[in-house]
Amino acid sequence: MLGIHAIQTGTVGIKSKQLRGEGHGARRLLNTLTDKTWDQPVPIYAWVIEHPEGVIVVDTGETAMTAQQDYFPQWHPFFRQVKMFVSPEDEIGVQLMHLGITSNDVRWVILTHMHTDHAGGLHHFPRAEILVARKEYATARGLRGRLQGYLPHRWPRWFNPHLVDFTPEAVGPFSSSFALTRANDIILLPTEGHTNGHLSVLVREEHLSIFLAGDTSYTEQLMLEQAVDGVSPNEQAARETLQRIQAYVRMVPTVYLPSHDPAAKERLSQRQTVLSPETVKTVP
Ligand SMILES: [Zn+2]
Repeated sequence: MLGIHAIQTGTVGIKSKQLRGEGHGARRLLNTLTDKTWDQPVPIYAWVIEHPEGVIVVDTGETAMTAQQDYFPQWHPFFRQVKMFVSPEDEIGVQLMHLGITSNDVRWVILTHMHTDHAGGLHHFPRAEILVARKEYATARGLRGRLQGYLPHRWPRWFNPHLVDFTPEAVGPFSSSFALTRANDIILLPTEGHTNGHLSVLVREEHLSIFLAGDTSYTEQLMLEQAVDGVSPNEQAARETLQRIQAYVRMVPTVYLPSHDPAAKERLSQRQTVLSPETVKTVP
């Protein structure tokens, strides 16, 4: 069993209709942007895998700099829909040190996607090899990225990621993948929908898989309900991704860990797999 740690880099407050989208097409995003109901703040998780081939960090969490008034572009409606609560001690660099890991020990940083609460801690890893899906990087860059709610102007100057191209190596219901380690136990999977180039990280242990799911859904329950969130630019892709994940967890005992699921840390430490897949409700 690999040493895998959940690192909580603060919390984020979001609206109910972002967690569970309502309606379809442009209406769904509009419903989210006009929602007045704040849900309970949810954790922002990043993950650390102590792997024999090198330490792997999955997502970098958020930065305490978000407390500065001008950190987020005020003109962008998306940033009126989220509230970050991150202290300097919450940042991933400090928390890695508590685990006895310096950021120089980290060989790979994998970003599930480039939203601020996943890329906000990039500045801690100037020496690591950083991996992002090619499509995600292309979407998140420049003005186009800023319009879509990314913060490319906040990326470190040295940021020059390795762009992941998936190969036609099927993993269960996923028709392509990218094997990171020689041991073939850390696999990147395309899980598009929440963003155009979203990926997930599969950790294959002897008897089960750990699915580091990013924002494919905000909780395990929402995955089981096949509920697409309220911000995914491609609802159909998001739905297909949720279907593939559900098919995968039916095939292989899987610990499913979305980045903002309040129960994720506990499920990781217990290696608690998705329960009773046969009781899974499917949404027509
Ligand atoms: Zn996201």
